Amino acid sequence: MQPQHSPRDGFFAAGLLLLLALFAAGVVGAIRGEVQHASIRIQPLAGKAGAHRGEVLLLPGGAEHEVVARLDFILPPPDPERARWIIWLGRDPLDAIWLQGSDGAGAPWRSIHYDFFHPDAEQPALPAGFTFPLPADWQGPVTLELHARGAVRSALWPRLLRESDALAGARMAVALNAGAYAGLFMLALIVLVLYAVTRERSFVAAFVCAAVGLLLLAAFNGHLFQLPGFSLLAAWRGQAIWALLSLFSASVMQLLLRYASLREGGAPAARWFEGYSVALVLLAATCLLDLPPLRPWMQALAMLGWIGAGFGALVVLGDAVRRRVAMAWPILVLAFLAIGAGLANEAMVRGWLADTLWTRYGYQVAVVVLLATMSLSLFSHIGEYRDQRDRDRLARVDSERRMGREAARNALTLALQARLRNQPTADLEWTAARLLLEHLVPQVPSATAAVVAYGYHGHDLLVVEPVERKQRIADDIAARALALKRMASNGVPMQQPLAHAATEATEALVPLPIRSPGWGLLVLQREGSDGFSTEEIALAGEFARLAALHADEALAAYQLRRSAELDALTGTFNRRSIDQWLSRTFLDASRRQQSLSLLFIDIDHFKSINDRLGHAGGDHCLREVAAALRGALEEGDLLGRYGGEEFVALLPGRAGADAREMGERLRAAVERSVVEYEGRNERITVSIGVATRLERESTPAAAIERADKALYAAKRGGRNCVHVAPAVFT
Ligand code: GH3
Ligand code: MG
Ligand code: MG
Repeated sequence: MQPQHSPRDGFFAAGLLLLLALFAAGVVGAIRGEVQHASIRIQPLAGKAGAHRGEVLLLPGGAEHEVVARLDFILPPPDPERARWIIWLGRDPLDAIWLQGSDGAGAPWRSIHYDFFHPDAEQPALPAGFTFPLPADWQGPVTLELHARGAVRSALWPRLLRESDALAGARMAVALNAGAYAGLFMLALIVLVLYAVTRERSFVAAFVCAAVGLLLLAAFNGHLFQLPGFSLLAAWRGQAIWALLSLFSASVMQLLLRYASLREGGAPAARWFEGYSVALVLLAATCLLDLPPLRPWMQALAMLGWIGAGFGALVVLGDAVRRRVAMAWPILVLAFLAIGAGLANEAMVRGWLADTLWTRYGYQVAVVVLLATMSLSLFSHIGEYRDQRDRDRLARVDSERRMGREAARNALTLALQARLRNQPTADLEWTAARLLLEHLVPQVPSATAAVVAYGYHGHDLLVVEPVERKQRIADDIAARALALKRMASNGVPMQQPLAHAATEATEALVPLPIRSPGWGLLVLQREGSDGFSTEEIALAGEFARLAALHADEALAAYQLRRSAELDALTGTFNRRSIDQWLSRTFLDASRRQQSLSLLFIDIDHFKSINDRLGHAGGDHCLREVAAALRGALEEGDLLGRYGGEEFVALLPGRAGADAREMGERLRAAVERSVVEYEGRNERITVSIGVATRLERESTPAAAIERADKALYAAKRGGRNCVHVAPAVFT
């Protein structure tokens, strides 16, 4: 846990000082305001009890003891104006206490019989002591016997008081008790609500601590055993108190562990404390088992357990102060205070300190304040918890978004690969732009998205999503083409408010990586003035790059494929691919029983053309002849350069006269074309041999031979003519 140091600490320190002052005032008030009481001389009569300073009778505790002492005092004469006299004792966990004796006239007298663990006959709601009213007519020297029986160590301080003074003291005690109970009850409620809201486990520990603390204090004061249900605990008498004390020690340890975040730190002390807590819970269980041989030891063990917990608390809090855990200082001071008040109570029980409000109830107030402060300081944990939860949520949203974008990116890449592979070149850029918008808009929601490109692979392009806005975007872009071009060539994405929009809108312009002088932009428009996040713009840029990259690659691949198929000089199919076409079309035609003709075309006297025009001139003529032939052919016909100045035309669907007619057309087309080279007009003619696929022919070899022979025949026949091969040459 990181060191905490909040302004809250200051508030709590101030509150603590105030509390200390109140506490000190309470102590002083309790001591000084001690009601004057007539002195009672005590003489022990039985048991191990011994008088202490002549005013106190000690019950040693452990096993059950009975003590009896003689009380000697002198009662002033009765005063009708003032309340009657009573003997008053603090409410210690006694099994029985009563007075007996005789008045001056020698008549026997016996007081009420009290049992700490069972309701008194006539008791106030929260009885604060044992009250023995004396007969109103008594006066002068009185001698009474005090009988007390119990197993819990106690110091009995009988006092002779006016009943009204005793009531005033009792009211203070009741106020302190009620305050402590209410405080713990509220604390338990608050931490329970906090737990329900935050699900922070520390608050469960705080709740257990407050609840067990409430039961413990009520048990110490004897009030618990008077509540319906809890009165069952009275069967255990003192053992119930020691069980609650052990449970309370354990729950304080647990609360401390959480308060100081020892578990998170993995401190070895945490393991000790856990073990100690478990031992304390076992001790509590042992108390409730109420095994006779162990009974005398339970009080001492429970007190030892409590002292150990207190010592551990000091160590943990000292460490927490060093680590600057929230409010460690005030809590450490409160812990010292609680321990001091606890020691004062122990001293009172041993008869070393007088039985006052401060010695009897001081530790209870201190414990309540300590618990409240410690529980509420868990608020700092709520802060951490909430921060952690927010961080987790943000991280989750972020990673979901990242994953969504990663998936969209992959989907775009796959779509581009699948769709551009066999795309005719003219549609390539359009398809890429379409895919880009399709995949981008779900990730970067836009009212309008468009890809605008000029001179991209030699095409102009405008793709708009949704399509209905195409005209509007086209007009808009035409109106500011120059500005857009400048932005595109900047290469830096940007966004701006849409100036002419009726409602507020923002436009993002993301340049496309297009080789100059071409240029292109991805245009995204969105309602509102919030615009696009840098992340969205980056994503748009990345998608645009992906689309352009794949379009470029597809085009390059297409061109490579074409260059491998075509003859570099004439742009017709080369020998290798025309051979493939021959095999393919022959097989195809034989399967479908379709006619197919094959034309061999050879330029006449090409040697002499070469001789006259030179090799470059010859090449030029070859190109011109190829262009003339291609111009005369029809769609579906194939033209290839078979070698040298010899071409092959494949005519699917033609046979016989049909093929001859096409041969004639080709011949005429070449003859008509006048080839101009270095200012000279060259007339070129071709001879053509025609062969048609025979019915059972599925390979071209025989037809090639026939066409070759027909060409030879055409050459012999005077050139510039077409010769059709007969089915069988003779
Ligand atoms: P014929 O009418 O009998 O066909 O006479 P011809 O001169 O055309 O004879 P032939 O077909 O045997 O001549 C082929 C000539 O074509 C040989 C070669 O110099 C020329 N030639 C072959 N390939 C090329 C080429 O790629 N460029 C150029 N300029 N000439 C080529
Ligand atoms: Mg030739
Ligand atoms: Mg020739």
